[in-house]
Amino acid sequence: MSSAALPRVVIIGAGFGGLTAARALKSAPVEITLVDCRNFHLFQPLLYQVATAALSPGDIAWPIRSVFAGQKNVRVVMMEVNSIDPTSQTVSGGVTSISYDYLVVATGATHAYFGHPDWAQFAPGLKTIDDARAMRERLLTACELAELSDDDEVRRRCLTTVIIGGGATGVEMAGAVAELSRRTLRGEFRRIDPEKMRIVLVEAGPRLLPAFPERLSERCKRSLIEMGVEVKPGSTVTECTERGVSLGPERIDAALVVWAAGVRASRAAQWLDAEHDRSNRIIVRSDLSVPPHENIFAIGDTSAVQSEGRPVPGLAPAAKQMGRYVGRLIAARVRNEADPPAFSYKHQGDLAVIGRKSAVVAMGQLRLSGFVARVFWSLVHILFLIGFRSKIVVAFEWLWSFLTRQRSARLISDGAPRHTVGPQATRGTFLANREQTKQGLARGIQGG
Ligand SMILES: Cc1cc2nc3c(=O)[nH]c(=O)nc-3n(C[C@H](O)[C@H](O)[C@H](O)COP(=O)(O)OP(=O)(O)OC[C@H]3O[C@@H](n4cnc5c(N)ncnc54)[C@H](O)[C@@H]3O)c2cc1C
Repeated sequence: MSSAALPRVVIIGAGFGGLTAARALKSAPVEITLVDCRNFHLFQPLLYQVATAALSPGDIAWPIRSVFAGQKNVRVVMMEVNSIDPTSQTVSGGVTSISYDYLVVATGATHAYFGHPDWAQFAPGLKTIDDARAMRERLLTACELAELSDDDEVRRRCLTTVIIGGGATGVEMAGAVAELSRRTLRGEFRRIDPEKMRIVLVEAGPRLLPAFPERLSERCKRSLIEMGVEVKPGSTVTECTERGVSLGPERIDAALVVWAAGVRASRAAQWLDAEHDRSNRIIVRSDLSVPPHENIFAIGDTSAVQSEGRPVPGLAPAAKQMGRYVGRLIAARVRNEADPPAFSYKHQGDLAVIGRKSAVVAMGQLRLSGFVARVFWSLVHILFLIGFRSKIVVAFEWLWSFLTRQRSARLISDGAPRHTVGPQATRGTFLANREQTKQGLARGIQGG
């Protein structure tokens, strides 16, 4: 069969879901176009390590073209999709349109500010490499400004970080900032003591890590407190400004506020005029197709589906399982075989790292905490990185940092990102280059 006669599969998004779907179609007689607004696949679970200078961006991102260099039925297109026309079966981004026979939408999610979109500029979320680099920049610049200042109040504010959201991302970020200030920066400054950095973890619910068993949540809270993190469960943020945050009557002035409290799916539901839930996730059928279409599928963070009576969580393994399922289903259809049974999600467990010697793991009946959990967490993450080089580099960085306390990526660079692309573009920039970061901090420090 000539390539022109093969069914055309378009996959939008080369995240965990889209990448796995394309791989699952490796030996299927189809022509795949994998579209992403970025030219790389990003391992989001380790973004917080870039934000806290433990890893470099290149350690957790891989060019999509190189991932698929050996899979000849995949064509990679870098384009930001902004509409889908199910009648003409085309996907469009600006002036370019791509036709499909089957469409897989895997465009992920972005942050949700619960009706306060203006907070995004003061409390950025962690979703892209640009976000992580901007946070690293701000964290390190704040320490430099504190060292320069003679004003105690300014120093206090520069040395305060607030993290909003006590799920895995918030916990991991809080632990990593604590390690950076208490271990890595210790003894390096002359006028300030980074060990005195105030790190506040705010959670609206009654406990941290709500997806974990209560005992592990408690263990996590104890470990963070031992590391010097102030944990505030049952606290709701009522205001975010350039100066910091308010928790009702309590105001916390901070140089860095990180939003890890909620997500909202991409705009795919609007492109398809599809039914969606409160988080804008497309409500899909049990074969992950988007009603009323039989040939359009939504997977990963941008879809809402139940499995065994429970909603499938927004996690990387769930996105991968959906990608694998849709790949198998499309392969079966193009071969005129029967569809596989309805999608069913297998939860593999929950993991969160707290610090250099501590993590929590809940997998089936297995419950781990402390150093054993930390080693387990490291092995699992190394296993899931793409490519031998990344596995070796990341394993070496972690071992080096464990033995020496050093972090290799502690740079405040001139070339920090000036803007974000793709789904983040509408959020505006987060004081993206060094001057902006400095000016922003100075405004926050001097302003009312
Ligand atoms: C900081 C952080 C930490 C996390 N930690 C964990 C963890 O420890 N364990 C875990 O299991 N999960 C974790 N997650 C969640 C996990 O990363 C997501 O569930 C997973 O990435 C979802 O995969 P996806 O394929 O649906 O979307 P994504 O992986 O987000 O991929 C979406 C892709 O679509 C592209 N895209 C978006 N819009 C467009 C457009 N308009 N045009 C073209 N391309 C577009 C994006 O560039 C991206 O490549 C974390 C997430 C974050 C942000």
